[in-house]
Amino acid sequence: MGAPGGGGSEQAALLERLVAAGHLGRTGVAGLYARGEPFERVRLAFDALVTRVAAPEAPERLCFPPLIPRAMLERSGYLRSFPHLAGAVFCFEGDEREAARLDELAGAHADWSALTRMSDMALAPAACYPLYPAIAQRGPLPEGGVTLDTSDAYVFRREPSEDPARMQIFHMREIVRIGTAEEVLAWRSRWRERAAELLRSLGLELELALASDPFFGRAGRLLASQQREQELKWELLAPVAGRATAIASSNYHQDHLARTFSLATADGSAAHTGCMAFGEERVTLALLCAHGLELSRWPAAVRDALELDA
Ligand code: ATP
Ligand code: ZN
Repeated sequence: MGAPGGGGSEQAALLERLVAAGHLGRTGVAGLYARGEPFERVRLAFDALVTRVAAPEAPERLCFPPLIPRAMLERSGYLRSFPHLAGAVFCFEGDEREAARLDELAGAHADWSALTRMSDMALAPAACYPLYPAIAQRGPLPEGGVTLDTSDAYVFRREPSEDPARMQIFHMREIVRIGTAEEVLAWRSRWRERAAELLRSLGLELELALASDPFFGRAGRLLASQQREQELKWELLAPVAGRATAIASSNYHQDHLARTFSLATADGSAAHTGCMAFGEERVTLALLCAHGLELSRWPAAVRDALELDA
């Protein structure tokens, strides 16, 4: 997680400019935006570039909606580590009297949550989560493991902010490797180079850094320091409104998620998993900050790499 805290004045000024130039539109909720034509063009062009760069690995594309079964979130351990970021879906199941009460409260923008019940769905907090149980369902992995692609999945994080780089819902493109420890580690170091090369080819000023997740509470601080010591997460940071911001990150979960979801290798031992995640809105923002808000004035090499004129 690169950009901490709420938006500073540079962040607020960038947001103003993005809105004025038609890149983002405000909804009235912090971190929840409409994406205008030029912004979406860049985001989708970047998404397509990741597809081209990942193509030699022939990842299997497996796409999920932005909602996941609540039981999956509960099982994953996400709520232990990140209860502050999670979101669940609550729906109304009452009678007519309660419906009238709901309407009355909602009409006054008062709290109508007491009239709803927790549903069996939650918001996806990471693009890769639904992949693990889906692959486990197929039985032991084939020899050589599997490589998967989530496509441009929506994920939710409850972190309202005026910083345009800190959204509550955004697109996370993840390439995921499931196999033996050796396979995942070798894959991870290949992607370390490949991701940096990919982003540098777009004229971004990059920094590579070891990182940790924003684990909740006191126990979380210990988890974060272990994560750093074991070098399980690294991030690629680029400037957004003058602040180094994680635009891509790589996570090595060891056999943690595989044990949770009973993912076994061909020989029956617990698999290892790793993922390479690109924050598509953040990449787009970093490009707009590096090259300006007017796409037609971007360097030809960047336009070519993104095939913006194709
Ligand atoms: P895991 O799979 O272990 O949960 P992950 O790698 O999928 O982790 P993160 O590293 O937390 O998840 O996020 C991946 C990328 O998503 C980040 O590198 C960043 O670019 C982007 N990102 C994270 N949080 C936000 C946010 N609030 N707004 C916009 N983009 C974000
Ligand atoms: Zn992931």
